Amino acid sequence: MFNFSIARLPRIEFGAGTLKKLPDIIAGYGSRVLLVTGVRSFTNTDNWQPFIEQLKQRTISWQHCTIAEEPSPALVDDLVKTYADHSFDVVVGIGGGSALDAAKAIAGLLKVQRSVMDYLEGVGPELPYAGPALPFIAVPTTAGTGSEATKNAVLSTQGEHGFKKSFRHDKLVAEYAIVDPDLLRSCPPEVIAANGMDALTQLLESYVSTKSNAFIDALAISGLQAARDALIPLYRQDGQLQEHREKMAYAALLSGITLAQVGLGSVHGLASPLGAFYPIPHGAVCGTLVASATRINIRSMLAREPNNQALAKYLHVAEILCQKRFIDPETAFTALIDLLAQWTAELALPRLSHYGLQETALDKVIANCRGSSMKTNPIVLNDEEIRQILLERL
Ligand SMILES: [Zn+2]
Repeated sequence: MFNFSIARLPRIEFGAGTLKKLPDIIAGYGSRVLLVTGVRSFTNTDNWQPFIEQLKQRTISWQHCTIAEEPSPALVDDLVKTYADHSFDVVVGIGGGSALDAAKAIAGLLKVQRSVMDYLEGVGPELPYAGPALPFIAVPTTAGTGSEATKNAVLSTQGEHGFKKSFRHDKLVAEYAIVDPDLLRSCPPEVIAANGMDALTQLLESYVSTKSNAFIDALAISGLQAARDALIPLYRQDGQLQEHREKMAYAALLSGITLAQVGLGSVHGLASPLGAFYPIPHGAVCGTLVASATRINIRSMLAREPNNQALAKYLHVAEILCQKRFIDPETAFTALIDLLAQWTAELALPRLSHYGLQETALDKVIANCRGSSMKTNPIVLNDEEIRQILLERL
């Protein structure tokens, strides 16, 4: 618990209005920048033109590419080839997880000029990545994936032979994470819902991870408290929106830090094959599965590992999220699972069958879910237990 190492983190600028610091931070790296953004989340807002004016004033030249969906290895390779001769000084990703992950991978490969397939985990030769990576600056416009704080870029190809895998290395961690909660203004409610449940799941899974430690636990708890207070009201556009945006941006940033340091659990283990084989947004997988996965984790531990320390942690999470004390653990566990299910319903997160998953395909999903995230789940689940998680949300 008190033996831990903390891997590299970005320098972090957090708070409403911090976007204004971006032009000077870019200038600190040089005069040629590659901007990687989503299709709309930033370029369609009134932040774009003033930002471009600021670059001009500093005689910074830029190229701009947009990422329309969860990035594939082929897209990353294409962009790396396209921009091979531009001698950029820095890469800036501005957008949701897709734009940030694409930018992170491109920054890692522009100088190396190799296919990302050479480095992806679990597919291809898995060559050791030695860099050099270009400096990367991450500016999230959604509150969810935490990609601004992590060392991996998730890339996927979708379909029957699809995969969803990470290009992962300490050298890929952003130099700066600029987290400006005001950017969430352009985030539609369904994106707030799915991304918010991703952040919540990441905090919960890293809190009970087999690699957890006291330092990261403190961050996970702080993030869970913020998500508890802000996610539902922000989705409903209810109350103090400025404060809710701050809390969700904070929860998402912390979830990226915690997952990068101690890993995740069964929800993210399943998110990998589900996102590869079906057109399911990552946040929707997390939101739809978190209640059933929590239930199966707790039930399996009670049955097979009653002394597992994660049970006490789930009890603590129940007290934090439900904001009350419980007379016995069973009541607390039930209340926690019910609350998570209630949030899933309130946020209108669809069941898996909505995206085409059928019971006959569960074996294939289960056979492909034991990647890195599943390895830090607090209990090793058997295939039947994993099937139960999926069946509950089919
Ligand atoms: Zn996630």
